[in-house]
Amino acid sequence: MLLNIFYVKVQASHYICHPCWQRADRAAKQYTRPSTSNSTARGSTQLKCVNCGINVTRMKRHILNDEIILHHIQQRVAPKMVTASDYICDACHLLFHNDNPVSEDYDSVGHRNVCIKCGYSVRGLRHYKVLNENHEHILSVVQNWIYPQEVQSADVICHRCFQKAEADFRTNALLPYNTSAQSEIIILPNYRRAPHTHARCIFPSCNSKSQQLVPDVIRVRLFSDHKYYISPGCRICRFHLESQSWSLLFEADNTQHSFSATQIEDFCELLKQNKNEDFENI
Ligand SMILES: [Zn+2]
Ligand SMILES: [Zn+2]
Ligand SMILES: [Zn+2]
Ligand SMILES: [Zn+2]
Repeated sequence: MLLNIFYVKVQASHYICHPCWQRADRAAKQYTRPSTSNSTARGSTQLKCVNCGINVTRMKRHILNDEIILHHIQQRVAPKMVTASDYICDACHLLFHNDNPVSEDYDSVGHRNVCIKCGYSVRGLRHYKVLNENHEHILSVVQNWIYPQEVQSADVICHRCFQKAEADFRTNALLPYNTSAQSEIIILPNYRRAPHTHARCIFPSCNSKSQQLVPDVIRVRLFSDHKYYISPGCRICRFHLESQSWSLLFEADNTQHSFSATQIEDFCELLKQNKNEDFENI
């Protein structure tokens, strides 16, 4: 929670009055808004479980004020940020809140088949995979809706939200390029990148919770030789680092073509480093 007193070190003994707490609470929610709701929604904030994405507006929910659960969920959903004023659903709460040591399964979610936009279950309803080459046009719309979260290969969208995405796509196509709401995310068809997760190894279906960052030399080489981008902070396990079987990465179905402005700025850093290496080799 970001209080307006950053020059004073906050201590456990400090107090805050209720109106100020509410203000800080709202500020914290605002801060996490892209992860929990449609950032263009005015006033109608959706409450979603930050772990599985189910809409908890009319559901039993738990505020994330348990430090241990918060920590584990933060690791699971990084780089999306969660705060103590976010909510999780009862099913997710049960998964993390048991007397056993916290579940080691990083794929533990209370609900599956949840629409990535509205957070309602699509079970038994018409729905689509977001990553589907037959409707690539909606990908950038959906990606912007859920930013900084990223579309994963298993993500689904309900029919209603799909229609909304198509409508947004058509509206944006009519806007002059620079005023487009889509300008935060850019699709580069000739460049690929690894999913931006800090929780596990970047290789597809490798669940290793390695803490090893992908070394810069490798980021530079894959970018300059293969147009494959790995953002800083991505992890790799020892096995995959040693095996060097990069083609597995390039062919993975979780490969993304959408880039944020920050990532494109980082391209320049990689190119600079690449040049320096060339000079050193002379
Ligand atoms: Zn006050
Ligand atoms: Zn949940
Ligand atoms: Zn939906
Ligand atoms: Zn791995």
